[in-house]
Amino acid sequence: MQLTNRSKVVVKKEMTLMERLYLPAILAGMWITIKHFLRKKATINYPEVKRPIAQVYRGMHVLKRDEKGAERCTACGLCAVACPAEAITMIAEERKAGEENLYREEKYAATYEINMLRCIFCGDCEEACPKEAIFLTDRIVPSEFLRNDFVYGKDKLVESVSQRVDVSVRQTKEVANFKKDNKQQHNINDLKQFFKNALIKH
Ligand code: SF4
Ligand code: SF4
Repeated sequence: MQLTNRSKVVVKKEMTLMERLYLPAILAGMWITIKHFLRKKATINYPEVKRPIAQVYRGMHVLKRDEKGAERCTACGLCAVACPAEAITMIAEERKAGEENLYREEKYAATYEINMLRCIFCGDCEEACPKEAIFLTDRIVPSEFLRNDFVYGKDKLVESVSQRVDVSVRQTKEVANFKKDNKQQHNINDLKQFFKNALIKH
């Protein structure tokens, strides 16, 4: 039975003398190998050598602290709602008296996790955050052997007080202008619509 008309009749023809010698075919193959050997390598010795990346590259996230060192995140959940990959999970807690130097707002994320295997580095979490708490940086997520090691908690995400992460690299003039332009706040409108629909349902 013929399913398609793409069948090809194979002709078994006699090999020529050159083909039977094999040597020309071997030399032709070796010539291709030598040509690639002499060419500039397409690969690099990562991580010793790193490729230059674009200024607007979106890599590993950082949870920022404010100028006094308190965590900016207030566990509002907007980043998790905005995330198309459902990569963000968090558990919110109330700030206790005496913890004002640790957490800027009255509510904070006791647990905050991003699954880097789910993340598509779209930057929607950064766009949705009303507290300027989460940013994508120019840092690359390192490879791991276990899937669980790709679930980044606060230990990996929150910047250290002494070693702040510079998030200004990606904030080019064009990006800053884009963010200022109210007409372009498509994500805000989407989120407003999301909450409106959620309220109607309940
Ligand atoms: S960058 Fe995109 S996919 Fe990754 S956590 Fe943020 S919103 Fe989700
Ligand atoms: S990172 Fe921003 S958007 Fe996400 S929970 Fe914290 S404050 Fe809200």
